[in-house]
Amino acid sequence: MTSDPQRILIFGGTFDPPHLAHAKLPPVVADSLGCGKIIYVPAALNPLKSDTPPTPVSHRLAMLHLVVDAIPHAEIDTLELDREGPSYTVDTLVVLRQRYGEDLNLHLLIGADHLLTFTQWKDWQRILKLAEPAVMPRPPWPREKLIEEIHQRFDATMAEFWIAHLADLPYLEVSATDVRDKITTNQDLIGTLDKRVIDYIRRHDLYAPDSRRNA
Ligand code: ATP
Repeated sequence: MTSDPQRILIFGGTFDPPHLAHAKLPPVVADSLGCGKIIYVPAALNPLKSDTPPTPVSHRLAMLHLVVDAIPHAEIDTLELDREGPSYTVDTLVVLRQRYGEDLNLHLLIGADHLLTFTQWKDWQRILKLAEPAVMPRPPWPREKLIEEIHQRFDATMAEFWIAHLADLPYLEVSATDVRDKITTNQDLIGTLDKRVIDYIRRHDLYAPDSRRNA
């Protein structure tokens, strides 16, 4: 599909660490939606995960650059890191519209876990007015299981809406939690992380027991 510079894919996350699904899937979605740009938005704090403080921003940002700088038409916007307190997607979308142009078509890329908690997000109805969602099946919800889950959790109209916004993607069995566990227990990381991210983690001794909170 031809890409439209006025159509932007927004992809937020903790990226602790950024893994292969974060690197491989957004470009596929951007291509299928005709987005001319992908903006990765690293979160300072996930308002729904505030009990697990993430790895220091400096490391998460450095690792994210190793991934995003290699993706054509992708960039990082640090607006959530520059802001005080927890980040709410609705506020981010408002700022991005002001920053990049009110006439933009924004698409918000989220994984299945976020879809299933979406009605807990601040001003979720407004989010859907500011950006059209695209949802990625992800562990533990491959596409068919996710469709079943959507039917259980949403009324018929919203279920139809969400199913229409499922992205057609390969199912990648990787998560940041799994990667962190693998590092902590010294398991093989092949197929989970970019080689440059692995090197960075080793160099800075991240995710080893007792090293998580060191800047
Ligand atoms: P954690 O395991 O700590 O929950 P994560 O792997 O979900 O982390 P995040 O940085 O929170 O990593 O994810 C950013 C976005 O990427 C979220 O929308 C998440 O649902 C999505 N995502 C993560 N892993 C996958 C995957 N394997 N396939 C598709 N989307 C994914």
